[in-house]
Amino acid sequence: MVVTFPPGNAVTGDARAHREGPASRHPTDRSAELFEEAKTLIPGGVNSPVRAFAAVGGTPLFISRGDGAYLWDVDGNRYVDYVMSWGPLVHGHAFPPVVEAVRTAAALGTSFGAPSPAEVRLARLVVDAVPSVESVRFVSSGTEAAMSAVRLARAWTGRDLIVKFAGNYHGHVDALLAQAGSGSLTLGVPSSPGVPGVVTAATMVARYNDSAAVETLFSEMGSNIAAVIVEPIAGNMGVVPPREGFLQALEDLTRRTGALLVLDEVITAFRVAAGGAQHVFDIHPDLTILGKIIGGGLPVGAYGGRRDIMDRVAPVGPVYQAGTLSGNPLAMAAGIASLETLRDGAFYRDLEQATARLAAGLRQAAKEEGVPITVNHCTGMLTVFFTDGPIHDLDDAQRSDVGLYAQFFQDMLEQGIYLPPSQFESWMLSSRHTPEIVDATLAGARSAFGRIARLN
Ligand code: PLP
Repeated sequence: MVVTFPPGNAVTGDARAHREGPASRHPTDRSAELFEEAKTLIPGGVNSPVRAFAAVGGTPLFISRGDGAYLWDVDGNRYVDYVMSWGPLVHGHAFPPVVEAVRTAAALGTSFGAPSPAEVRLARLVVDAVPSVESVRFVSSGTEAAMSAVRLARAWTGRDLIVKFAGNYHGHVDALLAQAGSGSLTLGVPSSPGVPGVVTAATMVARYNDSAAVETLFSEMGSNIAAVIVEPIAGNMGVVPPREGFLQALEDLTRRTGALLVLDEVITAFRVAAGGAQHVFDIHPDLTILGKIIGGGLPVGAYGGRRDIMDRVAPVGPVYQAGTLSGNPLAMAAGIASLETLRDGAFYRDLEQATARLAAGLRQAAKEEGVPITVNHCTGMLTVFFTDGPIHDLDDAQRSDVGLYAQFFQDMLEQGIYLPPSQFESWMLSSRHTPEIVDATLAGARSAFGRIARLN
């Protein structure tokens, strides 16, 4: 849905305080020009679909630089960034230790196609932090990590069926691009042309937070299930935390039947805690999928877990998986610089406080302006749903009024606050989102809610 604002919906002088740059120029002139050119060269003008703003309308910003919690577009406008490259930048943009580490590494060579010490160092940091990971293999994206973990789980168990949850996203792996039919538990239906039905037929899709449905499935087909793959805190239908006991039920069911529990912590590892959601909820997966923060903003993914299972991966075992740029020295250097500064408990306390302050302030502002919303959050992650809650699964999330989200997004953008250009994504905070920045965001949100209340 494309939302255009009536001319009367101008931003206040106060809100404009976020903006730097020439006032006489239309804020998105150069972005609009670049977008037109990009569309002639790149499908939809973007290299990942959500960037095109299709869900919120308008022209995507083309970014020239970032620093801390801020982004600047090519027209010189400054924005507080709540996308943070979709999660990797837990220290903010251009974090000096990461920039320095990458500069130093690049001067020594950008890729060797041979082992290097940085891989060992980053593996050590991951193994020390993430409780269930005894051995880890680096790849170049979360998608690649998820694909490899599914292959390994099938090889380990000698079984084919995979259970996933509606609204969870594990990258664009064919077998996991499955959506639910109607009902709380269904055979996967391909969610993209080009994915063969025979591939998703081996994927069962269950309702998130519905452990009874998974129990039923295991009682019927447990001996054929290779793995249950789950986002321990969902971030891809907006933020949806697990209900109490949900993850533990998955651990118990998989243990009992010999299936593997695979936690997708691509977003949550080193964000909700250094040890990820598995540390927070005391869950013991067999395999864990990683990405984002472990690459410090460079392209990285990883999968790891029990040593006996990981030892089935080539060259120790027969499960093939390889990569020209796997363990890339620049990505390893950025990951090391990112993780080395995360061992301090105060880091997560501050991130939690900033997120909680934002969540509470948003609830309060929306209530006072008479706009019904539900805010789900955990450390460093937050979503505002434009509906009464609670939100425990995809059906709940889809009750959100996406038209109102689009209005909110555009209003906030006008005020210099860059939110995810889709209702069904998580806002990401960093250590650079100070209380002052959070309070400025809340002032902007309050005036946006006020305009939404008057317009609707
Ligand atoms: N898993 C989760 C939970 C994700 O959020 C994502 C991407 O956002 C992926 C996997 C895929 O990672 P990538 O985009 O690096 O392929």
